[in-house]
Amino acid sequence: MATIIEEILSKIPHDAKISCTKYEGANIVLYTKSKQFFKYGGDIIYKLVEDFKKRIELRADPSIRVSEEKTLSTIKKIIPKEAEISKIGMISTRGLVIIEARKPGVAIGKNGEKLKEIKNETLWIPVIQRKPEIRSALIQNIRNVLYEDSAERKKFLDDVGKRIYEVTKSSAKTKWAKISYLGGARQVGRSCLFLQTPESKILLDCGVDIASTSHSFPHLEAPEFNIQDLDAVIVSHAHLDHCGLVPLLFKYGYRGPVYCTAPTRDIMALLQLDYIQVSHGQGGDAIYATNDIKEMIKHTIVLELGEVTDISPDVRVTLYNAGHIIGSSLVHLHIGEGWHNLLYTGDFKTKATNLLNPAHTKFPRVETLLIESTYGCKDDEMPPRKTSEKELTDLVEKTIKKKGKVLIPVLGVGRAQEVMLVLKDYFEKKKLKIPIYVEGMLWDVNAIACIYPRFLSKDVKEKVFYKDDNPFLADTFKEVAGGKERRQVIDGGPCVVLATSGMLTGGPSVEYLREFAANKNNQLIFVSYQGAGSLGRKIQSGLKELTFNGNQTIPLNMKINTIPGLSGHADRKELIEYVKKIDPSPRRIIINHGEKSKCLDLASSLHKAFKVETTVPRNMESFRLR
Ligand SMILES: [Zn+2]
Repeated sequence: MATIIEEILSKIPHDAKISCTKYEGANIVLYTKSKQFFKYGGDIIYKLVEDFKKRIELRADPSIRVSEEKTLSTIKKIIPKEAEISKIGMISTRGLVIIEARKPGVAIGKNGEKLKEIKNETLWIPVIQRKPEIRSALIQNIRNVLYEDSAERKKFLDDVGKRIYEVTKSSAKTKWAKISYLGGARQVGRSCLFLQTPESKILLDCGVDIASTSHSFPHLEAPEFNIQDLDAVIVSHAHLDHCGLVPLLFKYGYRGPVYCTAPTRDIMALLQLDYIQVSHGQGGDAIYATNDIKEMIKHTIVLELGEVTDISPDVRVTLYNAGHIIGSSLVHLHIGEGWHNLLYTGDFKTKATNLLNPAHTKFPRVETLLIESTYGCKDDEMPPRKTSEKELTDLVEKTIKKKGKVLIPVLGVGRAQEVMLVLKDYFEKKKLKIPIYVEGMLWDVNAIACIYPRFLSKDVKEKVFYKDDNPFLADTFKEVAGGKERRQVIDGGPCVVLATSGMLTGGPSVEYLREFAANKNNQLIFVSYQGAGSLGRKIQSGLKELTFNGNQTIPLNMKINTIPGLSGHADRKELIEYVKKIDPSPRRIIINHGEKSKCLDLASSLHKAFKVETTVPRNMESFRLR
C-alpha cells in the first residue's frame, strides 16, 4: 500500500522539483527547488488539499531561498512603518520567518498582499505574530523555547506525522472505542479520561485536584494505561484540574504531542510554574520540575478553533469555543472514519460574558456527549449576570466608603479577567479613582489575553483590533510584582485586590486574607467555585477563625459574600438548555466533572427531559462507545 506522501507526489508534475517531504504533525510539507512552482504552484496544491482532505503546504528548498540578510531588508522595505515591527526571527530549518508586530493587520496588508509580496521576493514563508502589549517574561520564554531548537522541533513534528499517517491493518474493520475514567468522575478535580480505539490511545485532560490532599492525582496506575503507548494528549483548557499533571507525563518519559489552543498552551505553562512555586512555598516537594514544563511546551501543537486535524490513524480532533476561560475548548473526536463521534465539553458556559463568546452548539455529528455538571443540581440555578455584576459593584462601593479593602480570590485565569472588566467599566462610569491591584501571575494572563484577541468576545476583540482601546491596559489596573509592593497594598488605602489562588489553598490570596481578616470593614468576595476541603469552602461554610502555622489564630471579622452568577460554568438551566440546543442531538450522555449528587441529579433530569440514555461513571470505570 502506498503511503499518503507517495500518493500525493504521484499527482505533482515532474518540473515541480520536489526535493524533500516532511510531516509537521498532521500537515504535509513539500519542499521545492523550483522557484516557478513555489510562486505559481498554488492551484495545484489547492487541488491536492481538496482531493486528499489533508493540509498540504509548499515551501522553498534552502538552496533557492534569498539570504537571511537580504530577506530582512526586503521585509523592512515591504511592511509599512505603521505596523510597528518589534522583532523578526528566522527558522531556517523550516523556511519560516516570524515577524512580530504591534499592528498585525497592517503587516499582513489587504487580503494578505504584503505577505504574498514577501513570499515571492524572498521565497521564505512569513508568519505574523502580535507583539505582547504587556511585557511578560513568561511569554518571551515560551516563544524562545519553541524557536531555540527548531531542528529538534522539526524532527518531533515529522515523527508525529509518520505515526498519524502510518499505514495500518486493522482500522478498516474493527470498530470499537472505549473510554476509561482515570479521574474527574463524580468529582470536580483531576479530570482525566483515557480513550482507546483499535489504533489509538489518547488522553483527554490530565488534571490535579488541588483542593484534595489525599487523592489529588488521576489513576495513572490503571492497568490499561501505559505512558509509553500513549499517542496524544488533548487539553481542553488551562485550569489545573484539567492540565496540572501534563508535565508529569513528560517527567515519566512521554514525548508525544499535546494538542490545545495557543492561549491554553501559554496559560497552562504559567499556572504549572506557579503550581511548582506554591508547593515549594508550602514546604512540599514539587512533583515535577521547570524542565518538564519546557518539554511539554516543545511537544505542544496548537490548533485553531474549528480546525479539523488528524491526531492518530483513526482519530480526528476539532476544538470549538467553550466560553469558559480564554482559549477553553469543547473537544470533538471523530473516530474510525466517522463510525463514532464524541463531544467532550470540558468546562463550558453557554451564555455570553464580557470577555468570551458562548459555547459552540453545532457539530457535524455527535453520538456521545460527555458533559460537565459543576452546577448540575436543581438548586444550582444562578441569578442573571447583570444582577450579579450589580451585587459585586455594590459590595465594592460599600466597602470603599467604609475605607475598607476588598479581596477577591481568583483562579489565575477565568473570573479574574471578567471581574476586571466589570469593575473597570463601573469605576469609569462612576468616576471612582480606586486602584484595582492585580497580582503578578494574573498580569501575565492579561498579557496572554492581549496577544490572542481572536479568542475573546466580539466586543473586546473590536476594541483591541480596531479602536486601539485594550481594556487590560487601563490605568485603574496596577500590577503587584512582589512582596515589597504587596506590603504597600496592605498598608495603603481602600482598594480592590485580585489574587490567586482562587480557593485560598495557597499563594498571595492567603497572605492578603491573613492581613485583611480581622478588620470588619474589609470584604472577602468569592466569585468562583470553592472545592470541597479548601479553605475557601470552609469559610463559606461558616469558619470563624483562621489558623496559620499551626498555632497563630486570627478572627475572621471581615465581611464574606459569594456571588455565584459570575461563574464561568454553565448553571443548571444552561446545562439542560445546551442539551436541547446541541445540533445534532446526542444518543447518549455521560455526566462528569461534578460532585456525586450533582452528576446524578443532572443525569436523571436529562433522561426524563430528552428520553436519552445517561450514564454517571465512577473513577476507574470503563465503557464501550457504540
Ligand atoms: Zn475550568
